[in-house]
Amino acid sequence: SKLGGHAADMQVATPKRTKEIIAKHGFSFKKSLGQNFLIDQNILDKIVSAAKLDKTKGALEIGPGIGALTQKLADAAAVVTAVEIDNRLIPILEEVLEGQEHVEVVHGDVLKLNLQELLERRYKDVTGISVVANLPYYVTTPILMKLLEERLPLEHIVVMIQKEVAERMAAKPGGKTYGSLSVAVQYYCEPELVCTVPHTVFIPQPNVDSAVIKLTLRSEPPVKVEDEDFYFRVVQASFSQRRKTLANNLGAFVGKHNRDKLLELLQACEVDPSRRGETLSLEEFARISEQLRQSDWMDIASV
Ligand code: SAM
Repeated sequence: SKLGGHAADMQVATPKRTKEIIAKHGFSFKKSLGQNFLIDQNILDKIVSAAKLDKTKGALEIGPGIGALTQKLADAAAVVTAVEIDNRLIPILEEVLEGQEHVEVVHGDVLKLNLQELLERRYKDVTGISVVANLPYYVTTPILMKLLEERLPLEHIVVMIQKEVAERMAAKPGGKTYGSLSVAVQYYCEPELVCTVPHTVFIPQPNVDSAVIKLTLRSEPPVKVEDEDFYFRVVQASFSQRRKTLANNLGAFVGKHNRDKLLELLQACEVDPSRRGETLSLEEFARISEQLRQSDWMDIASV
């Protein structure tokens, strides 16, 4: 006999229901697609509540799996779109989400989809759109960078990712985890670690630690740079060899023959050339890249 309310029975995110659905459809997990499904209602609730959704908001989910998080998003938001790459999951999702007119499952690779177009088509009447997902870990960074670089009109990005990557995204200057990913993410967003998550909330269990991170998109970058592409190249160059100083890393970037001019420029920027990239703030990187860009000796096109 059935125990408990019917609503709870309908939730796919329990070990029992997940196993039943998988068995019924003869589904087998593909490690290569980063398939680790959530089976814990509390974690799902935490993810959804961090996104601050309501019935005027839209949610975009990347990688719905068998729909554990999608069900919660359907309850919380006015419009939900879930993009899933694995065609074997589409019939399962259609079954799990049956009758939910405001939810659309899109079969495709999120890295190849025209998301701008998708957002314009799906979210005409909402007051804000957020990405909410338990991301496939093998493509976390490309997915997040695509969302940010395309400057999609998003409010929040709340995602489950590898803990180590979450820490790098939220890291402040001075620590070992601070690097070009921290600068890139913080240029577009304010990051906040929501919680760390034990292995036991997934089927199958991933062999890395996980965390939920919330990225709130900034209306404007925290630093002003004329040429973003060049800014990020300067940042990347500054971290190219972690143990080396700025004088060395940026020296290689601008060319040996420009070394003296670089040292002068760093001095003018009030940045000690013996510092390492991992100690510089976004603002200090901006100062350096703007000075380099404006200098008469630096050929931006050549680096
Ligand atoms: N949301 C589900 C959950 O929490 O139980 C599943 C999360 S699982 C970590 C990641 C999901 O992303 C899988 O369903 C996988 O098939 C899908 N996926 C992997 N690569 C993808 C891509 N490039 N585009 C869209 N979905 C992808």
